[in-house]
Amino acid sequence: MKISIVGTGYVGLVSGTCFAETGIEVTCVDVDETKIENLKKGILPIYEPGLEEILERNVAKERLKFTTDIGSSLKDCEVAFVAVGTPPDEDGSADLQHVLNVARDIGKYMEDYIVIVTKSTVPIGTAEKIRKAVKEELDKRNADIKFDVASNPEFLKEGAAVSDFLKPDRIVIGVDSEKVEEVMKRLYKPFLLNGHPIVFMDVPSAEMTKYTANAMLATKISFMNDIANLCEIVGADVNLVRKGIGSDSRIGNKFIYPGTGYGGSCFPKDVKALIKTAKENNYGLRVLEAVEEVNDDQKSVLVNKVEKYFNNDLKGKTIALWGLSFKPETDDMREAPSLVIIDKLVDAGCKIQAYDPQAMKEAKRILNDKIDFAPEPYEALIDADCLIIVTEWREFRYPNFKVIGKLLKNKAIFDGRNIFEPDEMKEMGYDYFCIGVENN
Ligand code: NAD
Repeated sequence: MKISIVGTGYVGLVSGTCFAETGIEVTCVDVDETKIENLKKGILPIYEPGLEEILERNVAKERLKFTTDIGSSLKDCEVAFVAVGTPPDEDGSADLQHVLNVARDIGKYMEDYIVIVTKSTVPIGTAEKIRKAVKEELDKRNADIKFDVASNPEFLKEGAAVSDFLKPDRIVIGVDSEKVEEVMKRLYKPFLLNGHPIVFMDVPSAEMTKYTANAMLATKISFMNDIANLCEIVGADVNLVRKGIGSDSRIGNKFIYPGTGYGGSCFPKDVKALIKTAKENNYGLRVLEAVEEVNDDQKSVLVNKVEKYFNNDLKGKTIALWGLSFKPETDDMREAPSLVIIDKLVDAGCKIQAYDPQAMKEAKRILNDKIDFAPEPYEALIDADCLIIVTEWREFRYPNFKVIGKLLKNKAIFDGRNIFEPDEMKEMGYDYFCIGVENN
């Protein structure tokens, strides 16, 4: 079987590599020439645990290839995945320009029947737009070639993308014919040996499923952040509340950790896009609108605590910041809460000394010389007035508190991820502030 994956970002590269691992011949396509040239040399554009090893293996076996030429990738190809970005447009709706460019390119170059599958997160009705764009190009060529369009939203998590793809909880596929269903079953059979389901449905329901999943997860996060803020006011400890509710199987213990707000390339834009879809259909998604509002406010919570500690005078303060990526195990900085926190602190007159295990290259590209970067965590603390922790990388979990205490001017830690025990911090003489615990 031969497939083409158009768009070689987090989703396209991981999907392509994992499909190749099953023996399928995969060509990953991208318009970014540098990215493709680097991939041909074995240089990965992203950090994703486990990806490099499996990519190298499949390139060596010549099952995984990279190109900027979509036409050549479509030759003898049964399935073409669309895995390009769908960033938010100015009004919050998903910008489909990249998806439709790919559809037009497929229409221009396809020579035989093909199944076009959207892996990008796209709003309801996109499959129809793709169908129209492909058909227009075929008509221009007077070519009567059949094709189908299916929807296969991707649920991988950055930081665990390879294992999520190889052992998915479920695969959702929207199709409108049995023929396409059979092709997709064949493609995914090797990934379903763990017994998890492949759920077939109509195309609009598949498109809606992806948005609903992300909206639900974002809702859990914002709900818990809202509760955490109330806990602080009324004297409850959200860490205990979380444990108290998480053992209820109806609630579950995932995604109920309070923090500095959700970020990343998916939740913020998908929440916005779903709200916009509702508005376009004269419906108000009131819960989701509140989810977004709470999340925007939550990104300021840590800064507010720092301001209060220094009596609203942050001018000239040096702040050490650990963790830049929007979550651990990724170098993705898109919509990272750290960016909002940094903006606010710099505007208030602070100097930032930051450290992140993987995201510093990307952060430097975005922030230029707005902040200083330290090559290792303790160096970020030198002459700093306090430490703030934004991302819960594993290496921050058991730091050397004696060294931290010696390097910081004040023994003050602001922890946006609640990774330390407040009582232990107090015993060690730290002023310790986390999210959703009284006396912060
Ligand atoms: P990305 O920005 O990392 O990668 C997109 C790639 O597409 C880029 O390399 C870009 O150069 C390329 N591209 C753009 N236009 C092109 C064209 N016309 N032809 C060929 N290549 C083109 O994006 P991503 O994070 O991989 O996300 C892709 C889609 O998958 C989005 O819709 C996203 O919402 C969805 N998604 C992302 C994740 C995630 O964790 N990142 C998870 C699930 C779903």
